[in-house]
Amino acid sequence: MLADKDRIFTNVYGFQPWNLDAALKRGDWDDTKGLMARGQDAIIEEIKASGLRGRGGAGFPTGMKWSFMPKESKDGRPNFLVINADESEPGSCKDREIIRHDPHKLIEGALIAGFAMRARAAYIYIRGEFIREAETLFAAVAEAYDKGLLGKNAAKSGYDFDVFVHRGAGAYICGEETAMLESLEGKKGQPRLKPPFPAGAGLYGCPTTVNNVESIAVVPTILRRGAAWFKGFGNEGNAGTKLFQLSGHVNTPCVVEESMSIPFRELIEKHGGGIRGGWDNLLAVIPGGSSVPLVPAAQIMDAPMDFDGLKALGSGLGTAAVIVMDKSTDIVRAISRISYFYKHESCGQCTPCREGTGWMWRVMERLREGDADISEIDMLHEVTKQVEGHTICALGDAAAWPIQGLIRHFRPEIERRIAEKNGGYLAPMMEAAE
Ligand code: NAD
Ligand code: SF4
Repeated sequence: MLADKDRIFTNVYGFQPWNLDAALKRGDWDDTKGLMARGQDAIIEEIKASGLRGRGGAGFPTGMKWSFMPKESKDGRPNFLVINADESEPGSCKDREIIRHDPHKLIEGALIAGFAMRARAAYIYIRGEFIREAETLFAAVAEAYDKGLLGKNAAKSGYDFDVFVHRGAGAYICGEETAMLESLEGKKGQPRLKPPFPAGAGLYGCPTTVNNVESIAVVPTILRRGAAWFKGFGNEGNAGTKLFQLSGHVNTPCVVEESMSIPFRELIEKHGGGIRGGWDNLLAVIPGGSSVPLVPAAQIMDAPMDFDGLKALGSGLGTAAVIVMDKSTDIVRAISRISYFYKHESCGQCTPCREGTGWMWRVMERLREGDADISEIDMLHEVTKQVEGHTICALGDAAAWPIQGLIRHFRPEIERRIAEKNGGYLAPMMEAAE
């Protein structure tokens, strides 16, 4: 279990105030000027050496992403940092806690990260529904300006840096980085084709890095305690501490910072109070927010909770939003509800997603009732394969993967429902068309 002395987010439960005075006592903004004096390239190298991978879900190496930013402006275009606080993934609620209780970690991180990538401004795009959190963030940014930690000669570093907080309006798709850039520019939030990646052409066509809240908020601590300290947690390629969010059928749902790669059972025993009704009652787990496939109980018990360990099980760490489902769960209904979410949130820009998400959800609803032909299970699987990888953004994949996971692991349950509906007999395969 992670020792208290190794926790980055020491106020994640809000036992102390979030404000600047309390944050200073917790060590935030301690010689920020000195950290920045190490130099931009040295900071990027330190973050690379720490092994930090993006905490928004995709796990792209953070230091490498920063190094894509141009060191010198070629045609007068400034660099920008955009911080993704549009946390909307079902099951995810970690960035919300950081903003509520530790906003100065994020703001200090924004200054240091922005400086490292030669940006003069950061935009924090915060989810529209986070009304109180936005109020906290606006107030924390105002405090930082007031004390000279932002603005001209930020934190007496000699570097001018601004932070702007921008509120979203409630669209899940605006959490996709290029849809977020469109939205910031005042347009409809629809994803752009990549490449070009934002580092080449991002906000207003300028070089931009989009990072998740947690990725930025851990930066000051990594620099203070050193890359080796951070890399000391977790398995090879999966470094650091991480905020896990335990929800569903655990006895004590919570957000907790733990070492990356902690085994699933240990995570749940130590922080989730065990499974409701005991371990024998566990059915399946969605380990990383609704976008990743479920993992059945038997496979996840000893799995390391990290990017590579969960990928090896055909799933992923995603946002580390661990959704636990016990045997009382109607698993087909649960995945059908997730399908509805993606149908609802599709921006409608590309055909496989716009048409496919609705089609998949409607079939899922019939499978839930057993009101289907047995051949439709394979047909549904085939359609998920036609959606996966054939869309502009990852929402198409995210809609396809949970269904694939369900069919992979719970096909007998789907077949049982069809048989039950058909009076105990499975309907015959459809005749192949001549
Ligand atoms: P991605 O793998 O396409 O990209 C990850 C990051 O790496 C992006 O910033 C991208 O610009 C960068 N990148 C990737 N390849 C690059 C290259 N060749 N050159 C330069 N930069 C490159 O994934 P994504 O679409 O950004 O994110 C998908 C993930 O988001 C999912 O896995 C899901 O878990 C997560 N997600 C999170 C939330 C949330 O609320 N936090 C919501 C929805 C989805
Ligand atoms: Fe929009 Fe879906 Fe296409 Fe993404 S995959 S751009 S959400 S239609």
